[in-house]
Amino acid sequence: MSDDCIFCSIVAGEIPSRTVYETDDVLAFLDANPLAPGHTLVIPKAHHEHVQDMPNDLAADVFAVMQRLVDPIESAVDADGSTVAFNNGEVAGQEVPHTHGHVVPRFEDDGGRPIHSIFG
Ligand code: ADP
Repeated sequence: MSDDCIFCSIVAGEIPSRTVYETDDVLAFLDANPLAPGHTLVIPKAHHEHVQDMPNDLAADVFAVMQRLVDPIESAVDADGSTVAFNNGEVAGQEVPHTHGHVVPRFEDDGGRPIHSIFG
């Protein structure tokens, strides 16, 4: 756990969040400012700032959870597809320095905006 990390505080239960799914090492929770209904963040419970900082097996676990959640999330909000992505590094728009994957449900009528556009 890293001091002053908002996502570490969520893992520790010090800040409320809406859990979607969890394993011993991975937590998925609803984004507080969703880009679309069902927007979910998937994080390693251990603090790692960037994707490449995670051990390979943990990175695989995080991705496996994202992969596993795509269908249920899309079904829950009746989406037609998803953007599944990491903003990695400040210049790429990563605002929270605890690596996190986004699963953002997409809809036929949402304009089909590309990833750089939806992450503004
Ligand atoms: P961006 O804000 O540009 O998408 P990130 O890729 O770093 O940058 O994403 C951080 C995400 O974390 C944002 O989608 C934001 O809404 C979300 N977020 C920030 N604080 C919380 C929180 N306490 N609970 C849930 N989601 C949060």
